[in-house]
Amino acid sequence: MKEDYYDILGLDKNASAQEIKKAYRKMAVKYHPDKNPGDDEAERKFKKAAEAYEVLSDPNKKAKYDQYGHAAFDGSGGFGGGGMDMDDIFSQFGDIFGSAFGGESGGFSGFSGFGGGQRRQNKGGNLRIKVTLDLKEVANGVDKKVKVSRKKQAEGTTYKTCPQCKGTGQVTKVTNTILGRMQTAAPCGTCGGSGKSLDKRGSGTDAHGLKTEEELVSINIPAGVEDGMQLKVPGKGNEAPGGIAGDLIVLLQVDESSNEFQRDGENLHQEVYLSFSEAALGTSKEIETVTSKVRIKIEPGVQSGKILRLRNKGLPKLNGYGAGDMLVHLNVWTPKELNKEQTEFFERMKDHENFRPKPKQSDKSFFDKVKDMFS
Ligand SMILES: [Zn+2]
Repeated sequence: MKEDYYDILGLDKNASAQEIKKAYRKMAVKYHPDKNPGDDEAERKFKKAAEAYEVLSDPNKKAKYDQYGHAAFDGSGGFGGGGMDMDDIFSQFGDIFGSAFGGESGGFSGFSGFGGGQRRQNKGGNLRIKVTLDLKEVANGVDKKVKVSRKKQAEGTTYKTCPQCKGTGQVTKVTNTILGRMQTAAPCGTCGGSGKSLDKRGSGTDAHGLKTEEELVSINIPAGVEDGMQLKVPGKGNEAPGGIAGDLIVLLQVDESSNEFQRDGENLHQEVYLSFSEAALGTSKEIETVTSKVRIKIEPGVQSGKILRLRNKGLPKLNGYGAGDMLVHLNVWTPKELNKEQTEFFERMKDHENFRPKPKQSDKSFFDKVKDMFS
């Protein structure tokens, strides 16, 4: 059972964004690995607090967590919550500690030697792309292939052990911070922390021995995503000289105008038009849903404005439990032009008992509609 994110930060569920930030800052200072060298328990608490903050500081993720708890982030492939590494945690710090530590002069560099001199690997830069999906792709999930220009280690380029740091990637320095005097490991300036320096450059490479190449990257997008969400494809960013590759960050955009549906969270709405005759006689109609086509039955005497609710025919929920509904709005199309024969027919019917509106007696659909709107 995972610990509650609010409990981890010592907050109640009504905590404001400011309180969440403040609580996290306190925890991060208390359990920071630089202050607790070799203390696994402190490092565990440090990571847990960072994970809780990552979710609660993001309004979108926070809303999902408030509604579904940890299940909101299960099995959705790549969305925040679990598995933050130290790089991710330190990338939060600009936001949290920026002002308090006066920017660059601060003690928290992100290059500390955790658990005894472990080297931070030189990581290539992240790349960012946008991917646009229509609602059918949102409903079904999709594999998108995109062309990405990445810096890659090139043939003919070789690296040797860095003479400055002797391959450790770091140099030790003592700094004064608001937490007192701390010994920190800073990345080696010569090799950028990789422990390796350029030996030979391959042909057509840049100063770091890298070559920019176009690559077709396959992105697996799970069903149920929303506009503005980000997905991470590990290792598909730029490669680093002698190090490991950065990540590809995919910003998801949903084009809601690309289908005949209107989205309302997990529910979808669709307008369907019936002729006067179809409404009076009853009919059946084939309509599109996001996953398939379905046939709906229209009872004789249906009123304009009736809403049919097709259970589970909306968008799947991101947490994997069920789907929303498709709401089909029925509209009766009144003929705008009549020929002589038709005019005579309606003239004859005008005062007929069956053609007189009786909303109270027969129009149950009106009350169904109101009930649906509030359910
Ligand atoms: Zn070096």
